[in-house]
Amino acid sequence: MSCCDHAELLPYDRAVEDLLAAATPLAETETVPVAKALGRVLAENLRATIDVPPANNSAMDGFAIRFDDIAQANSSNAGRVVLPVSQRIPAGATPSPLKPGTAARIFTGSEIPPGADTVVMQEQCRSLAGTDVDGIDCDRAVEFPANVTCGDHVREKGLDITAGSTILRQGHKLLPQDLGLLASVGMAEVEVYRRLRLAILSTGDEIVEPGQACPDGHIYNSNRFTLAGLIDAMGMECVDMGIIPDDPNATETALRKAAELANCVITTGGVSVGEEDHVKACVDRLGELQLWRLAIKPGKPLAFGNVLGKPFFGLPGNPAAVFVTFAMVARPYLLRCQGCADGLLPMALTVQANFSRNFPAKRQEYLRARLDIADNGLMSASLHDNQSSGALSAASWSNGFAVQAVDQLIAAGDNVKFIPYSELFA
Ligand code: AMP
Ligand code: MG
Repeated sequence: MSCCDHAELLPYDRAVEDLLAAATPLAETETVPVAKALGRVLAENLRATIDVPPANNSAMDGFAIRFDDIAQANSSNAGRVVLPVSQRIPAGATPSPLKPGTAARIFTGSEIPPGADTVVMQEQCRSLAGTDVDGIDCDRAVEFPANVTCGDHVREKGLDITAGSTILRQGHKLLPQDLGLLASVGMAEVEVYRRLRLAILSTGDEIVEPGQACPDGHIYNSNRFTLAGLIDAMGMECVDMGIIPDDPNATETALRKAAELANCVITTGGVSVGEEDHVKACVDRLGELQLWRLAIKPGKPLAFGNVLGKPFFGLPGNPAAVFVTFAMVARPYLLRCQGCADGLLPMALTVQANFSRNFPAKRQEYLRARLDIADNGLMSASLHDNQSSGALSAASWSNGFAVQAVDQLIAAGDNVKFIPYSELFA
């Protein structure tokens, strides 16, 4: 893949394009029950084998009639029309053909009897006995209004889905409504890609796990938790390799094990060129590593390559930089590896800036921002005061990234791109 060890900064779009071109979708699939398939990626095109609805049915409680019966009677009576009720069709029953000149008592979801073409809502009908039509039985007569339109309140067979049509395609990530769609055509199981397995390694002698004492000079491991959450939200599996000390042998052992266990290896920290940064040298030995000068901020240092043939991302150590680089750079690549055909890149809104940035950026900046909706319905984004790559509180306070493009100056009131986090947590 093309990259950038030279002086020029690699534009974000170009980096993602190259990454997507280099991604190999997982081949392994498994069959899962539809009820367990939320967030999984379809490994096959799905075709309906039945029509939905399977037969014409009623959209209302009321009476099924032949429109012609009303039209004819109407032309002679010029008023309301009376028809006897010849059958009652509760939901789930198989109706008999409708006798000409009669009506069938029908309910929402009941099958329309052969011969009927129109349903009249019960609220528009009157029992001849002067009572409500509720509970009206066969052999009683019902009065219909004159203003009935042919085909009213009939849901036609196949209106939603026709037998033989493709309902969802390979590479689609299943949403809650998709599970309902599959169930509606009678599917109980689907073939999906096995979950992508991602190994995460938190490097640094100064890192300790929460729940333990944090001696002087140490900090808690937050990256592991941010990444595990992002991975979980994407429907992938996280293999936590724990904290890796700043030591070449420990780093190599952990990287080898990670490559064995997972489809992709992700490290945080230790990828700079300082003498305590061992990831770069280790990955160079075990595979290949390109240290990117990517034109995004935060996003330094960032590396891509492979460890023993498994794709490798070396993310920065700083917590907010981990959040941004994983969400904006690694995520699209990983989704493609998971078999996703679409939705790889987050959708950005155009909103009003509640802030100004009057110095042009050399790197595309992902500013932690909060989108608010004013009383007039307009959406505007405000920035957190602390945009440091080490500050996670800004990431928690915000609900998305306001994007300052390379060379873009932003004045308050200007339009800016805003990527809601909800776009990234799936
Ligand atoms: P490094 O790239 O290893 O020099 O790390 C850059 C910064 O990120 C340092 O201040 C580290 O202490 C911090 N850092 C690295 N890993 C983590 C982690 N897992 N959790 C929180 N902070 C970290
Ligand atoms: Mg370090």
